[in-house]
Amino acid sequence: VLRLDAVGKRFGALVVLDDINLTLRAGEVVSLIGPGGSGRSTLLRCIDQLEPPTSGRVRVGGLSIEAGHPPTRAELSDLRRMVGMVFRSPGLFPHLTVLRNVSLALERVLGRGRVEAEARGLALLERVGLAGRAHHTPSRCSDGEQQRIAIARALAIEPRLMLFDEPTAALDPEPGREVLALMRSLADDGMTMLVATHELQFAETVSDRVVVMAEGRVVEQGASRQVIHDPRSDRARRFLDAVL
Ligand code: ATP
Ligand code: MG
Repeated sequence: VLRLDAVGKRFGALVVLDDINLTLRAGEVVSLIGPGGSGRSTLLRCIDQLEPPTSGRVRVGGLSIEAGHPPTRAELSDLRRMVGMVFRSPGLFPHLTVLRNVSLALERVLGRGRVEAEARGLALLERVGLAGRAHHTPSRCSDGEQQRIAIARALAIEPRLMLFDEPTAALDPEPGREVLALMRSLADDGMTMLVATHELQFAETVSDRVVVMAEGRVVEQGASRQVIHDPRSDRARRFLDAVL
């Protein structure tokens, strides 16, 4: 589903990503951990081309995007249909109902009619346990509910790959657990997911593999439990000693 070959990103002279190689097969869940500023957000943004990589190649599904050759509009829209993204803050439209927040992408991105889009939107809200919120505005929903709505919105396009960038970092523990439980159930359903997170328990119990980044490089990757409890590289060990 996803393959990164030697992906690099510079901002001027600052090297933020250096030679990142990573593959996700269908149904795999991979957690991306590492100290602040290690480049995890930038990596996720390079995958969906919110940030163009400065070197290497990103392949998603059948699409291959080479640094230095900007994707065509058609390629970019193919990419956007394959990749769903959830950020630290839900970023819902405050003036639209919860249902419209979810169904709008179905009309705008997939060209569905309004009736069909809303029926599908309602099914997605049911999936995240929030059908009862359909006709509210986001401001009436709790922070954890808003993040679950953002997840429903990202799922609306039926992405092949979901990218999560610290989806619980802005939440208190209880709503954070709600969101993690939802992500766990998506993983159980076979969704392919790449998750930047500080939640080591989630990383250990939900993901198939853990990738540790530091200073823009992958310093370790492997089976979740082994990487978290018995990292082989000094850099990964130093990071994990500091956070465990
Ligand atoms: P965090 O744990 O804080 O989320 P991160 O691993 O997601 O960190 P990034 O946000 O990817 O790290 O940032 C990696 C580095 O790239 C940081 O040093 C950051 O200052 C730098 N950086 C990110 N975006 C830009 C930008 N647009 N211009 C210049 N430097 C940037
Ligand atoms: Mg980040």
